[in-house]
Amino acid sequence: MKPTHSPYVMPSLPIEGEAARFPIRQVYCVGRNYAAHAREMGKDPDRDPPFFFMKSVDSVVEAGTTFEYPRMTQNLHHEVELCVFLGRGGTEIAVEDALSHVYGYALGLDMTRRDLQLQARDAGRPWEFGKCFRGSAPIAPIRIRDGFGMPDRGEIWLDVNGKRRQSATLAEQLWSVAEQIAYLSNYYDLEGGDVIMTGTPAGVGAVVPGDIIRAGIDGLPGIELVVIEPARQNARKVQA
Ligand code: MN
Repeated sequence: MKPTHSPYVMPSLPIEGEAARFPIRQVYCVGRNYAAHAREMGKDPDRDPPFFFMKSVDSVVEAGTTFEYPRMTQNLHHEVELCVFLGRGGTEIAVEDALSHVYGYALGLDMTRRDLQLQARDAGRPWEFGKCFRGSAPIAPIRIRDGFGMPDRGEIWLDVNGKRRQSATLAEQLWSVAEQIAYLSNYYDLEGGDVIMTGTPAGVGAVVPGDIIRAGIDGLPGIELVVIEPARQNARKVQA
């Protein structure tokens, strides 16, 4: 019997000043890449260096004006992050050469079901239930590399209902963008279309339906959206 479903269409993101969109291939994320955030998560950045995890490709969505509260959580957290898009792949890329593989940059949110993530973390289990769910990474339009050119400095911030929650500079990243690309390319054959979400600064916290999230990074298009109730019935039921 032939399958009746359509092939999955990979997500894509708008590019500033271009009619074409940027097709996404794979989503890599850095954990604990800012020392103050590592501490607020109960970790010592000197003993627990940054590391990588992944989000599912269907996590990526073009940031709109709303974000639908996901199912099975009572503790949805915001994480504002610089996203790096590779235009060209490579394996064992040198740090000095790494930024030449970058197509562009964007502001993104690594929305996290924190209760599920911490349950998994503390049980020594994988993080997918906390990190991977459809639409969990709303991302603003991509600015092409040459129009940004500042992946290691500039302010990164996030407000909820007009109150500043997260505020740092990209210079506080423990692993630079170039170091992240080089490191990751030792483990994976990187490809054009891959995105790296480079970690979030301190100040992560919960949002609920009705909250307005505004976020920015110097030199990049921003995000402003409202968290809305899920459309599906019973969607806010919590774990048994
Ligand atoms: Mn994150």
